[in-house]
Amino acid sequence: MHEFSIASAVVDTAVRHAAGRHVTEVHVRFGRLRQVVPDSLEFAFGIVSRETVCDGAKLSWEVVPARLRCTGCAHEWEIELPAFRCPGCGGAAVTVLSGEELEVESIEVEEGAACIA
Ligand SMILES: [Zn+2]
Repeated sequence: MHEFSIASAVVDTAVRHAAGRHVTEVHVRFGRLRQVVPDSLEFAFGIVSRETVCDGAKLSWEVVPARLRCTGCAHEWEIELPAFRCPGCGGAAVTVLSGEELEVESIEVEEGAACIA
């Protein structure tokens, strides 16, 4: 379940940016091609964040659609599942424009809260 390694990376990033403050919410963006299962990620986040400043934080997310561009005819399209052939000309030389993102977009912290841990 690769959600655990993603959750670890998310928690590490949030902890670094929180600088000792208690985190109340972490907002992440991930591309559809990452094939992240949001429920699994939320579950993993809940476990990985224990005993960190992210403990109890809400995880929210945004899924970035996967967009491809055909190298041959410059056709651009969105895909639901990995299928990398251009529907315009049938070409297989394509560029992934989006869909591989995986980033912590923002975190919210309790202002003025002391680090008690
Ligand atoms: Zn094409």
